Amino acid sequence: MTYDLDYPEIRDAVAKLCSGFSGAYWRDCDRAQAYPAEFVAALTEAGYLSALIPEEYGGLGLPISAGCAILEEIHRSGGNAAACHAQMYTMGTLLRHGSDAQKRQYLPSIADGSLRLQAFGVTEPTSGTDTTALRTTARLEGDSYLVNGQKIWTSRAEHSDLMLLLCRTTPRDQCAKKTDGLSVLLVDMREVRGKSLTIRPIRAMMNHATTELFFDDMPVPAANLIGEAGKGFRYILSGMNAERILIAAECIGDAKWFTETAAAYAKERTVFGRPIGQNQGIQFPIAKAYAGMRAAELMLAEAVRIYEAGGSAGEEANLAKMLCADASWAAAEACLQTHGGFGFAEEYDVERKYRETRLYQVAPISTNLILSYIAEHVLGLPRSY
Ligand SMILES: Cc1cc2nc3c(=O)[nH]c(=O)nc-3n(C[C@H](O)[C@H](O)[C@H](O)COP(=O)(O)OP(=O)(O)OC[C@H]3O[C@@H](n4cnc5c(N)ncnc54)[C@H](O)[C@@H]3O)c2cc1C
Repeated sequence: MTYDLDYPEIRDAVAKLCSGFSGAYWRDCDRAQAYPAEFVAALTEAGYLSALIPEEYGGLGLPISAGCAILEEIHRSGGNAAACHAQMYTMGTLLRHGSDAQKRQYLPSIADGSLRLQAFGVTEPTSGTDTTALRTTARLEGDSYLVNGQKIWTSRAEHSDLMLLLCRTTPRDQCAKKTDGLSVLLVDMREVRGKSLTIRPIRAMMNHATTELFFDDMPVPAANLIGEAGKGFRYILSGMNAERILIAAECIGDAKWFTETAAAYAKERTVFGRPIGQNQGIQFPIAKAYAGMRAAELMLAEAVRIYEAGGSAGEEANLAKMLCADASWAAAEACLQTHGGFGFAEEYDVERKYRETRLYQVAPISTNLILSYIAEHVLGLPRSY
């Protein structure tokens, strides 16, 4: 087992694949808020989206560090893996908590790309971060659940066949703990889309294919319940360390793109008869962003090391997500400032990447909630909410 984030061959191959998708490609998608279908197809075809699926189900069977290398390279190349990254971490919930029959039925098709598992429906408009207050219900009738309610920010629902859905199967007031009574369903959206499932796209600050979903007596076979009814919150939590680690790797990729792009521009752009990069006022923010990225990268490596050794990586995964998101944001600021007015011009890609990396201060978990986790679970301070 490997504990580092290296994988030079995978990185080279991913970078080569990404070089076929230029800034112009990403700008066109961004402008039209169009899904980068060709890019996702190329990644799928090359097998990268099945990197973490075990070989017995047709995947590459690689550890999470390889997933990090793939996602980081995509972001470092100027692209964005948000169109497809969820496949890597939602699949883990099915792998860890699904039955043998479910794994045999779905994982090989996910691995070969014929079935897309890109959607993850947790957040709701009224409950927000307070997940256990969610209101979407699933009621067992015969051999099907009937789902009613609403989700928001369910990204990629229009570009996915399957969705992992968290909903309440026992009313909160009938549960000993508020974290009980929630269940995870694997929804085959192909059967219900446009009928009992309505999907409405949300235009957002960046091109993210995100949507809101409405369920009106949406039938889901009882056989598609993942694990045990009522234990869904635990299953979702168990996948969160992987999600944080993989998103942190994307942030490192962004931070590298921003520092490399800023340094290259600072060497070329001449004002007052010398390159702007000769001024310490330009050098220092880029150098500082680089230092922040390297430190965050070490925390990410530590989170990966503990995760791959089977340890409890909650603290490190949270710290890595926060520090890497902060590093990418600081690098984005330095890069935009280095470019002066040109940083705002679409053709430089800086403003697009700037908008894209801003998301990671809020999603999939906001910085405040990570700080609350550290305060409560690491420092032993009283729970604040
Ligand atoms: C582009 C995009 C894509 C997304 N994709 C998905 C997806 O695919 N699936 C999915 O389920 N969700 C998705 N999300 C939702 C995302 O996970 C949430 O937006 C995020 O968790 C924050 O929840 P909220 O927006 O409801 O904010 P709220 O819970 O309303 O919080 C608002 C602000 O208050 C702060 N806050 C709340 N409570 C506290 C507290 N106790 N202490 C301190 N600060 C607090 C938060 O940190 C935040 O800054 C996506 C969001 C976006 C914007």
